[in-house]
Amino acid sequence: MLELEQAVEKILAALPAPKSEVVALADAHDRVAAEKIHAAADLPPFDNSAVDGYAVRSQDVTTASAEKPITLQFAGRVAAGENFTGKLSAGQCIRIFSGSPVPAGADAIVMQEDTRVLPTDEASANMPSAGTTSLPPVGWGRAGVRAGAQGEIQILDSAKPWENIRFHGEDVKRGAVIVEPGTRLGAAHIGLLAATGARQVSVNRRPTVALLATGSELIEPASGRTLAPGQIYESNRAALTPQIAATGAIPKIYPIVPDTAEATRAALARAFAECDIVITCGGVSVGEMDFVKSSFEELGGKLDFWKVAIKPGRPFVFGRVPGKSSQNKTRASLPDAGTTSPSPPRSGGLELLGKQRKESAEGGGPGGAERAGASESLGRGEVVLRAQGENPLDVGCSMLDVRCSEVQGEKFLFGLPGNPISAFVTFLLLARPALLRWQGATNVSLPTSRGILAEPISNPDHRRHFVRVIVDASGQVHSAGTQASHILSSLASANGLVDLSPKTTHAQGTTVQVLRWE
Ligand code: AMP
Ligand code: MG
Repeated sequence: MLELEQAVEKILAALPAPKSEVVALADAHDRVAAEKIHAAADLPPFDNSAVDGYAVRSQDVTTASAEKPITLQFAGRVAAGENFTGKLSAGQCIRIFSGSPVPAGADAIVMQEDTRVLPTDEASANMPSAGTTSLPPVGWGRAGVRAGAQGEIQILDSAKPWENIRFHGEDVKRGAVIVEPGTRLGAAHIGLLAATGARQVSVNRRPTVALLATGSELIEPASGRTLAPGQIYESNRAALTPQIAATGAIPKIYPIVPDTAEATRAALARAFAECDIVITCGGVSVGEMDFVKSSFEELGGKLDFWKVAIKPGRPFVFGRVPGKSSQNKTRASLPDAGTTSPSPPRSGGLELLGKQRKESAEGGGPGGAERAGASESLGRGEVVLRAQGENPLDVGCSMLDVRCSEVQGEKFLFGLPGNPISAFVTFLLLARPALLRWQGATNVSLPTSRGILAEPISNPDHRRHFVRVIVDASGQVHSAGTQASHILSSLASANGLVDLSPKTTHAQGTTVQVLRWE
């Protein structure tokens, strides 16, 4: 059985080189940069004031204090966005605002709070104006006197050279590398790119990820149906959809697949025809009702490995379907409503034939057509699988979605175990890195934090156990409760996983690394 690290290595090694596309900056959040991004402009683009106040020559105010103010002549005003053409001379000051360009001759800004406007009888219209504006100065000094008609400003504090000035290019120099390839663009990257004038960015394509749940016992909660004996509500697709989306990949949710070979083959065929990556939940164990592996192989898929030495989640399977470019001879069958004409040929990795339409339309097993729900024509030769009580491909997936059928390359199967915790944890540990690396992301690790065990935790098992824990605000780590792989409530209260080696106990007070998720 593979160790987790070996499994991840095999998966990452199998993935294709990312393909890039150019997108508007507004669409670049959470996308992975395809190449180095250079700053298109200096940031800040000019020397400017960090505060509202008065631009001065620092040498004029070296001795200024509240007790011994220095009085400067008001020489104009420069607002943010204005281009100030005048020059500050000795003994003068210029009203300035945060973001305003620093006038020539000034080398410091005194904060407004450290100034006082001296009222005069003279109207501001008579005052010298060094700026582009003819408006009188407006503002409030420390004494609260309105500076609407004055010619003199008292400076109540000294200013060092370059105090409160933000320098041209001090943040970023034009041409500097501001984003490395493989970086996932977060909100701050987007802000930086915008500030340096970027309009578009070259990012890597995102995979479309089919999400399938197998199990004849599963009922779609959105159907509103009450559970018959033996049935349960399907929950893995709901839990994994946001996880897939959080990687930047595009989730496409498929109807529940009943436990028959035919329905599983048909669902896999369709998902592989439409998407880059297929994630299934359930049906990868050893039981005779587990059809994912066999169906995948019947469709021409190759299993790279099955089983990873972790708990929860041992029966995880990874496989691939060769791309069309590699002379794929695989033929998959597509279910049909019987009356529907065969689907048009697709450009995806699997060539779809109408061979097994009849079987599929009949539902192919216990429960029959009603159980499988058979299929439904959408016109144009397209068929949608409909599981009992479900809307056809009701979560944004359409057979007509060209994004899916454009794809030519190798495709990948991640067969997660069906138990909700096993599915969740194997997604985080094995599928998530792949979805990120498919997009060219350099960092595919889960975020981690360190914490101190508030209670002992142990793993008596011979398999590595990823234990659900709660990290509290003070960094104390508590068990999240029962750890069995069907206990969803402890996963819901957990905010992390601790990786516990086989046959290991960690005492209270031990510092542990906690794997987190988004
Ligand atoms: P399997 O891996 O198919 O053998 O399923 C293992 C357990 O997980 C069974 O108890 C299933 O009923 C349950 N299970 C499988 N798939 C799901 C799902 N999508 N949502 C909720 N429970 C599931
Ligand atoms: Mg099952």
